[in-house]
Amino acid sequence: MLPFARIAIIGMGLIGSSIARAARARMHGVSISAHDASADVRARVLDLGLADDVADTSAAAVIDAELVILAVPLGAYADVVQALAADLAPGAVLSDVGSAKRCVAASLAGLVPPGVALVPAHPVAGTERSGPDAGFATLFEGRWCILTPPEGTPAAAVERVSAFWTRLGSRVEVMDAAHHDLVLAVTSHVPHLIAYSIVGTAADIEEVAAGEVIKYSAGGFRDFTRIAASDPTMWRDVFLANRDAVLEVLGRVGEDLAALQRAIRWGDGETLFRRFESSRATRRAIVEAGQDVDAPDFGRGR
Ligand code: NAP
Repeated sequence: MLPFARIAIIGMGLIGSSIARAARARMHGVSISAHDASADVRARVLDLGLADDVADTSAAAVIDAELVILAVPLGAYADVVQALAADLAPGAVLSDVGSAKRCVAASLAGLVPPGVALVPAHPVAGTERSGPDAGFATLFEGRWCILTPPEGTPAAAVERVSAFWTRLGSRVEVMDAAHHDLVLAVTSHVPHLIAYSIVGTAADIEEVAAGEVIKYSAGGFRDFTRIAASDPTMWRDVFLANRDAVLEVLGRVGEDLAALQRAIRWGDGETLFRRFESSRATRRAIVEAGQDVDAPDFGRGR
């Protein structure tokens, strides 16, 4: 049995279009309606046949939907829900895919109608690409999807959203929103910030070193540029939404960098070696957990 027979997806970029593709591939008979603010994206979704119905407004897309998924940047949530709330079916479940979670309940406070359950979700899967052509059906396979239902959310709604993501190929975990935000600050948000920062620094040096930063980028720099090519709107919103946890983790990163700086200054090779050796062990653990493949072209495939 399908966890939801009729779903609506608002925002048909990388994540929204991947959900549509995966649902088509893994949930035969599910009906999908979609909306995106961009007319070009709506036209492309029609061309690609990603939805049964592509609506010009979010309100029209959600009529009769049992599950509504917000797949837009976090900063757009309040406006989007304000526009569609009156058309949510009684008993519908409202969910999302946003990369930060404490902000979801906060930005939707007072906007979700009674009788509609809010079950925020975050599929920990993605690429640096954007838009409906970037999505693919296997994006969520073997990846975690974290649900952060606010206190008092009906258990049945959480179970249905969990069943939905399991059907898309994900492994599901339920977590407190604040804990999610701290974990993701370490594993995703701060690494992106460091990539954005180092690519910016190199671009400034590039003006001095005329062409050499690009020419010799295979030394490590190009792997940062892949992460730093991620969508600017999405990431701006992530940092504004997860400010506290990001600042806390950044503080720790600064201390650890200073410790490495000191070790280099004082010729303390033992500290450097110990640190690098334990980093290798972390990499091995990620491969063993099935969260990456041990291929030399890491980061360049899907
Ligand atoms: P994306 O490819 O840029 O797609 C977002 C789509 O939403 C765009 O087509 C955008 O249209 C549309 N949109 C923006 N504002 C809207 C509004 N008010 N109403 C309707 N549509 C609107 O971004 P994405 O990577 O799929 O990210 C979507 C969400 O997924 C974000 O909340 C992000 O935090 C989360 N997420 C992303 C990743 C990742 O790796 N990318 C992973 C996990 C979760 P325009 O282009 O015209 O603005």
